[in-house]
Amino acid sequence: MSLLTVGSVAFDAIETPFGKTDKIIGGAGTYIALAAAFHAKNQKIVAVVGDDFPQEMLTLLEEKGVDLEGLQIKQGEKTFFWSGRYHNDMNSRDTLVTELNVLEHFDPIIPEKYQGVDYLMLGNLSPQVQRMVIERLTVRPKLIAMDTMNFWMDIALDELKNTLKLVDVLIINDEEARQLSHEYSLVKAAKVIREMGPKYLIIKKGEHGALLFHHENIFFAPALPLEEVFDPTGAGDTFAGGFMGYIAATDDASFENMKRAIITGSAMASFCVEKFGTERLTEITKEEIEQRVQQFVALANFNF
Ligand code: AMP
Repeated sequence: MSLLTVGSVAFDAIETPFGKTDKIIGGAGTYIALAAAFHAKNQKIVAVVGDDFPQEMLTLLEEKGVDLEGLQIKQGEKTFFWSGRYHNDMNSRDTLVTELNVLEHFDPIIPEKYQGVDYLMLGNLSPQVQRMVIERLTVRPKLIAMDTMNFWMDIALDELKNTLKLVDVLIINDEEARQLSHEYSLVKAAKVIREMGPKYLIIKKGEHGALLFHHENIFFAPALPLEEVFDPTGAGDTFAGGFMGYIAATDDASFENMKRAIITGSAMASFCVEKFGTERLTEITKEEIEQRVQQFVALANFNF
């Protein structure tokens, strides 16, 4: 089944305790698309870059089956740039630079042939742009998932709440869930957030895994204990890409299948953090992903 990914395609500069990069390719949309492409064979993207964005990455996405008709290349303009520095715990980071560039006036144009797409993954972008995409789709996708961040809660809370009414799945981290709900308990936070619109809520807890909430049901997926985390940038987006890629590939948005999708997302994210930027996602194989999924199965499996 088809999946439409919307998100930033960007340049990043990253500093972690292990090293520092110059401008490398990043962006939530890039991570989502790369991760989803291992699963969903019919993926489309709506995004914008400047004429400084390297053709090699676009070619790679195309080779992975991502349709790029919805990717706008703005001549004479610069690609979105983000720079961040991680603290020693590798869980928290400071944003050093955000240059919106082409994202500042991003008009998410949906190519005619994208109409009727089965699934939609809205990466972290302004809630206005996220809502515009939903409203421009003439047929509502079977499942709409979105990511967001504390930045939008700080500056565009009302817009964010309007967009939340339109989506099925919200994917955020624990800190963001607490900020959005004003509840410390994640169980209480989930209740408050689900009343805002999304029937399903996924709360990511970094190295402590992820929780899926739906009605009274809660599912917990661990994160794989890794010896080394090199660069956590994009792990959340990679998780979301793996999750929605799996849902689209299996064409099954039931709670039971979402459990498998979360494990798939967690497996994809565990690769992402092993090297800087998108590097690891461009070199892994389907076999390695399957092996890692089995490691998750072994990790959480027990008889009682
Ligand atoms: P994550 O580590 O999952 O939070 O995602 C990091 C990615 O999000 C980086 O590759 C950035 O390019 C991208 N990013 C950071 N800030 C923003 C923003 N305000 N809007 C869109 N994308 C962003």
